[in-house]
Amino acid sequence: MGAQVQRTTVFLDRDGTLNHDSGYITSPEALILFPGVVESIARLNRSGSRLFLVTNQSAIARGLMTVEDLHLIHQKLREELEVGGGWLDGILFCPHHPEDTCDCRKPNPDLIQQATRELNVDVAQSYFVGDKSTDMKLAHTVGSIGVLVMTSQFSQEALDSMKHQNYNIGFVASSFPEAVDWIIQDARGRKWNEPDKLVKK
Ligand SMILES: [Mg+2]
Ligand SMILES: [Zn+2]
Repeated sequence: MGAQVQRTTVFLDRDGTLNHDSGYITSPEALILFPGVVESIARLNRSGSRLFLVTNQSAIARGLMTVEDLHLIHQKLREELEVGGGWLDGILFCPHHPEDTCDCRKPNPDLIQQATRELNVDVAQSYFVGDKSTDMKLAHTVGSIGVLVMTSQFSQEALDSMKHQNYNIGFVASSFPEAVDWIIQDARGRKWNEPDKLVKK
């Protein structure tokens, strides 16, 4: 086999998707995972998917925390996932303020494009799990399969706006574990491999 075997990638929003969105999370103690998240992440890992966190953290630009604080929060997240045998393959974050008009704040595509360039991600073989319309808009923009989780105060607005925009959402899940069930099953049913495309560098 000359062709490289491509794996499915799952992009994950953080706040409101993996953990309670209680406003700006600026310390490890404030990060509280939803039930079943630890086990579900490990299941995705075992399914062969690569997992990347994609998160807007404007609390940095707002002066509410430092990049070091964010790393401590993510260290706690990684430790909790490790207990369940799971891990994240990478964490991509935007530290900017909405008014900075950067290219990386969701729904702008720069973080995903970075993953495509540097981490050999094929976005056409990816899912994007999130609770906000900005997550689903980004999925739509880059050609990732959007999976909306109805787990935060923003979810219903996201669902309504997606219907309004006529965006193609792959699935609407009532919980993160349900989203993962669907992704694993959906990925198995898809014909991802397109050899002609894969052998090209
Ligand atoms: Mg969110
Ligand atoms: Zn940014």
